[in-house]
Amino acid sequence: MKFLSILLFLLPVASSQAVRLYSPDRMTYADVVLNEGKLSYRAGYRKIVKKDTVDVCLLKDSPLGLYSNVADFTQGLSLRGAETDMPVCCNYTLRQSKVSQVDVEYHRSIFNLRTANGNRFELEFYVGNNNIAYRYNIPMQGETAAIVVTGEASGFRFPEGTTTFLSPQSDPMMGWKRTKPSYEEEYTPDEPIGTKSKYGQGYTFPCLFHEGDAGWVLVSETGVDGRYCAAHLSDCSADGLYTIAFPMQGENNGFGSTGAQFGLPGSTPWRTITLSPTLAPIVETTVPFDLVEELYEPSIAYKGGRSTWSWIIWQDESIVYDDQVAFINLAAQLGWEYCLIDGGWETNIGRERMEQLFALCREKGVAPFVWYNSNGGWNDAPQCAKQRMYSPIVRKKEMKWLQENGVKGIKVDFFAGDKQETIRLYEQILSDANDYGIQVIFHGCTLPRGWERMYPNYCSSEAVLASENLVFNQHFDDMEGFNATLHPFCRNAVGSMEFGGTVLQRRLNRNNNGGTTRKVSDVFELATAIAFQSSVQNFALTPMNMDESVTPKFEIDFMCQVPTQWDETRLIDGYPGQYLVLARRAGSRWYIAAMNARQEPLKLNLSLPMLAGSRVTWLSDGNDGQAPSSQSVVLDRKGTFKTTIPAQCAVVLY
Ligand code: CA
Repeated sequence: MKFLSILLFLLPVASSQAVRLYSPDRMTYADVVLNEGKLSYRAGYRKIVKKDTVDVCLLKDSPLGLYSNVADFTQGLSLRGAETDMPVCCNYTLRQSKVSQVDVEYHRSIFNLRTANGNRFELEFYVGNNNIAYRYNIPMQGETAAIVVTGEASGFRFPEGTTTFLSPQSDPMMGWKRTKPSYEEEYTPDEPIGTKSKYGQGYTFPCLFHEGDAGWVLVSETGVDGRYCAAHLSDCSADGLYTIAFPMQGENNGFGSTGAQFGLPGSTPWRTITLSPTLAPIVETTVPFDLVEELYEPSIAYKGGRSTWSWIIWQDESIVYDDQVAFINLAAQLGWEYCLIDGGWETNIGRERMEQLFALCREKGVAPFVWYNSNGGWNDAPQCAKQRMYSPIVRKKEMKWLQENGVKGIKVDFFAGDKQETIRLYEQILSDANDYGIQVIFHGCTLPRGWERMYPNYCSSEAVLASENLVFNQHFDDMEGFNATLHPFCRNAVGSMEFGGTVLQRRLNRNNNGGTTRKVSDVFELATAIAFQSSVQNFALTPMNMDESVTPKFEIDFMCQVPTQWDETRLIDGYPGQYLVLARRAGSRWYIAAMNARQEPLKLNLSLPMLAGSRVTWLSDGNDGQAPSSQSVVLDRKGTFKTTIPAQCAVVLY
């Protein structure tokens, strides 16, 4: 097979050469094409129709190549050789994601290419079952040992009629205290391709496409570290093409290049495509982790867990000593592992009294996370502690203090965008934090791109319109069901999502008597604890939730034992933004979240083989969604589960 492919390429067949690549199950394919010196690919899956195998093309002819200060690697190309469909096993352990043990296979292919001027590079192409990834490898060019990549031709072309689930890239230096872009824009469901993006700046990863009955495509990137910038997708051209777009000049207050600089030999990050007739391979994909590697050893055994977080409901006024004592005590009462002390502590509490809080944490068996401003010089965010994470000299001193006080994690907020300059800062914070046994959550930040595997002390990132918006604006409470049933299909499918959810108060203020109003049900909120994946979850519970007249005891019982690290994840059913039935396993126990974001009841007739014959706890909201209850049921030996879920309500089985 391998040699046949090479032969096909070397045959002088007009000006166009093509080679077909298959996944190990031979049901996913990609055609790599060289036509008049330009490189492109198409991709799709195969299905059996009346004993014949038929191609279903989901990505039409899409360009490949990159632009650099060494050469234009997009045209005048000739193929010097290829090795195709070499089997590669990806077998590894993942601590902080939707699955703990990964064992998948890909077929790897290498195409050796040359420009008309004799500049060489490789296209490296992986085809797995439902997953495709590619990147460019650049060798030294004579004595040239460094390159600046100024852009990529890499594209993704969709047929007419495709609809999209996309989040626009914002303009730079916009929004609160000039902190954007931070992947905090609203998704539009089922929008026709070709619609102009909100800011004219394209779309942030991941990008979900729906081609009607033919299937679904999720496009993203992975393996982005300090050697490259993070990319996004351009707006769509008239003929259905989205291309890789580099950061905007204005990001990071205009400072730093929009391109990428690295030493040779070197590689670009992976462009990834998950494609399938159904949504399960998209929700369950491990392609962000399969092709990257751990970049350093963990200095300690990092653990995920549940955390209290005063700021989300009690807001800025709660970053004072007494309120933090209340939330440390709450974490201890719930048996949770962590307590997050958010921004403002340096002024409002001070370092000495912070040390007293850390001592209280030790006494109570709760480990603290502490908030930091990433700044630096790229935004106007006033929260402290500031100027502690940018300089390595100050950062290491700070991390030493944290370590000496038993702090187990930091949450670093308000990053400056996607330029390589900023990606380097993420990597430096992670790497230094590991030296002090500290885990890292990023907020006001970019999407993680394989980081769960690359950086063992990386926890999670916001990079979503997270729970703070439920407090800021009623619109997001009205949209909570829609967003919660959308994220598992796109944002959270490719990386940990630090949403900070599970609000169990009806009103989102300190006394549960003002502010915004929660629209989804209690059990819907509990279900998000399963649906949203983040190895550390900062839940929105407050001391008031321990009062049984506010929150039924069975809801607290569920929150006391819900895991945050999963061994397995399976999509049972769903449609992005409408409803979701998701199963996750921790140890031997399965947790099922069935959530209805529609405005009418949802009838479900499910087959849950993982619960066949098992006795489980069934949480539901009652017929009107206002009477949450818990009961114990035994499923039949097929795991049949029939129910009707009222609008904006949910069912949890565990
Ligand atoms: Ca935010």
